[in-house]
Amino acid sequence: MTERKKAVALISLVCAICLLASTLGFFMTHGDITYRLWSRIRPYAEPALEITSLSATQSTTADELILRENVRASSLLMLVNRSHPLPLGYEALIEEYNGAKMHPDMIPAYIALRDELVRRTGIRVYVSSDFRTPEEQAEILAESGGDVAAEVGCSEHEAGLALDIYAPYFGGESLLQTRVGRLMNEICADYGFIIRYPLGKEAITGIDYEPWHLRYVGAPHARIITDAGLTLEEYVGLLTPNVWYRCDGYLISRQLPTILTLPAAFSACSLSPDNTGHVILTVKV
Ligand SMILES: [Zn+2]
Repeated sequence: MTERKKAVALISLVCAICLLASTLGFFMTHGDITYRLWSRIRPYAEPALEITSLSATQSTTADELILRENVRASSLLMLVNRSHPLPLGYEALIEEYNGAKMHPDMIPAYIALRDELVRRTGIRVYVSSDFRTPEEQAEILAESGGDVAAEVGCSEHEAGLALDIYAPYFGGESLLQTRVGRLMNEICADYGFIIRYPLGKEAITGIDYEPWHLRYVGAPHARIITDAGLTLEEYVGLLTPNVWYRCDGYLISRQLPTILTLPAAFSACSLSPDNTGHVILTVKV
């Protein structure tokens, strides 16, 4: 190799190293862009739902079932979107924590998630939007327009099942610029929350990516939905009516409320309408 060729090779190597270093530096200092890129290319598992059959069953109705001591009526799996508005006159079950109104089941879950984020990042997150009355939703719609805000009756905030979260000085999309915001997106499923409007699923949800909007669905649903990279629309659609699925110590089934078939015995069961005419049974085995 001539001296000239050696010099060209050396310069090319230095340029390649500089380019690599600046690219790495860019991604390391732009955590939000890196996180978005990762969200688009990350691999997802198949939904952790194993079809199972019940050896002994009992038949009942939703109205009868919710009267039993070990059965809990909930609304946690209600699909709320433009095609599935809340039932007319729907009254959300709400409790207040630290000035934020939400479904009572969400309070301990939110506290646990918030405290874990503080423990791991030293930063505390806050709620910027919680339960909204139809009047409040109408105000937001008038201010923001239909591309940003859902129509009245079509927002999960009206069901008390959603929270918008911010870190100090970082709200909305800029939440992902913070380590605490990215970590919240990563671990919220451990606490029963899902990122309801994920990146790349805008055509299904009808809503742009919202890394700040947490929706509570509880265990084990949040884990199944998140690990498989699903939306709530896809998850509800995945549950074939009258089929029982086994997952992580739970049995799950989506059925008509007027004709329910359950295991002959169980320790606990929760029953939530899915707002498509079915109820979803989550049985602890
Ligand atoms: Zn929201």
